[in-house]
Amino acid sequence: MSATLEKGLNAFKEVIDTPIASYFSSCVHCGLCAEACLFYNETGEEKYTPIHKLEPLRRVWKQEYTLLGKLAKMLGLSKPVTDAELAEWEPLVYDSCTMCGRCSMVCPVGNDITYMIRKMREGMAASGHAQEDLIGATTRAVNIGSPMGIKWPAVLAQIKHVQAETGIEVPVEREGADYLVLMSSMEIINFPEYLSALCRIFKQAGVSWTLAQDAFEATNSGIQIGASDLAREIVSRIVVAAERLKVKCVISPECGHAFTAIRWEGPNLMGRPFGFEVKHILEVLDELRTAGKIKTTGKDARPLTYHDPCQITRRGGVVEQPRRLLGDVAADFREMPDAGVMNWCCGGGGGVSANSRAEPLRLEAFKVKKRQLETTGVHTLVTACANCRIVLEEGLEHYHMKVDVIGLTELLADHLVEGE
Ligand code: SF4
Ligand code: SF4
Repeated sequence: MSATLEKGLNAFKEVIDTPIASYFSSCVHCGLCAEACLFYNETGEEKYTPIHKLEPLRRVWKQEYTLLGKLAKMLGLSKPVTDAELAEWEPLVYDSCTMCGRCSMVCPVGNDITYMIRKMREGMAASGHAQEDLIGATTRAVNIGSPMGIKWPAVLAQIKHVQAETGIEVPVEREGADYLVLMSSMEIINFPEYLSALCRIFKQAGVSWTLAQDAFEATNSGIQIGASDLAREIVSRIVVAAERLKVKCVISPECGHAFTAIRWEGPNLMGRPFGFEVKHILEVLDELRTAGKIKTTGKDARPLTYHDPCQITRRGGVVEQPRRLLGDVAADFREMPDAGVMNWCCGGGGGVSANSRAEPLRLEAFKVKKRQLETTGVHTLVTACANCRIVLEEGLEHYHMKVDVIGLTELLADHLVEGE
């Protein structure tokens, strides 16, 4: 056995905690998770059944932690997991799972298959079978501070641009501010209008906020690749900055997995509760709206619909907030079929969008989103995750669909009452 395989199998053994053991032992092989998965649903290929993607992890659990499995292994009736098998499973674990959580919603025995996939990725990373593009993104995140290699001068350039455009000062390193605002690399590069929109809304609402020079990046590729130590390092930068600046709340940007990383995984990774709150930007905007601090005028006349980002809606519980916000600014809002907690993934979560090898499969899986959109008949799609937004734009272009994609924060800012 090679040293990396041994390390990987030991990692597999270590990640098998009580929930994992209980999930494997309670699986009744009903196949309901298959129907919930966009990759199985759109291809019909058995290998994309969620529970099948976990087969090496299941074998390690059976052989190491069950009496029958141990006996079968001793008698040579059950073969140990090999390096070749892990190499074969690598595309299943990294290309055909966006960690969208839809399968976990339908399992009749309550198995959180998404949690299991995350644990499986930890074993894959430790055994030297992490996906190549994600290794690059994680290395850049650790060494440079951003998975896309963005450094503070690039953020500063955007800040200057926003200040010139809006006439509003962007606060940086402001100790004692109420909120620390994070951004994602994709917003910084592809959607600079997010920061501009935020400035205008926060100015009207009188929000006390700041950016931090050494903790502007919210994305966490350590979570996606399955490397807890790296995920912890990335989260700790935000925690250190939030504590240094003594903020009351950290705002996760329009990015799905960033919200999961800092809000739900963050305290577990750090091994302690945070002394500040973590909220998604939509939660903050909804609170400001409820408090009467956001004043909008007019409504967008275009028929439009909302794509629920999986990590924000299904895994994060932010369901009604975007709908209340849309209610203020949309004259003809139409829900997609399966909207809300059972919405279909865009196909690019969980690091899949950063994985160039997965592109053909991702576009195949996008057919479900295409059908959802066609049902609504809209040509404007609103969302609240920069990663979803890029993946949606690529899918729409691939299928020659004329649909504009916009961020909810920007849509809201477009309707702010002028001069307030
Ligand atoms: S839905 Fe649950 S019980 Fe059914 S096969 Fe999938 S993991 Fe097993
Ligand atoms: S988390 Fe989503 S993409 Fe992954 S196996 Fe489950 S349904 Fe499929």
